[in-house]
Amino acid sequence: MKAALGGRCTGRQAFEAAWSELRLTIQDAAFAEWRRDRDWRAEVVAKRGLGEKLDSEIRSTLMRCVCGTTFDSWKPAESYQHRAHITAVQATSGTRR
Ligand SMILES: [Zn+2]
Repeated sequence: MKAALGGRCTGRQAFEAAWSELRLTIQDAAFAEWRRDRDWRAEVVAKRGLGEKLDSEIRSTLMRCVCGTTFDSWKPAESYQHRAHITAVQATSGTRR
């Protein structure tokens, strides 16, 4: 009886010891992964935030005209004559259709 109780006790203790150890390992690993994930996301967001803003700015304002000139579509003085070029080409291709 004493041996049986002792056995159960030992088994339970072993289980608890293993479980607490496992819980610590899980928490540690999960926390480490969460931190890694958070850091990685923050890094990506920071990089993307900088890169995308510049990229989209360049893409949205700079246009390449049919005459071969790259102009800033946000500057009316620069884009006016090239808009005429593009419109002329579009009109030509439109009548050809
Ligand atoms: Zn042009």
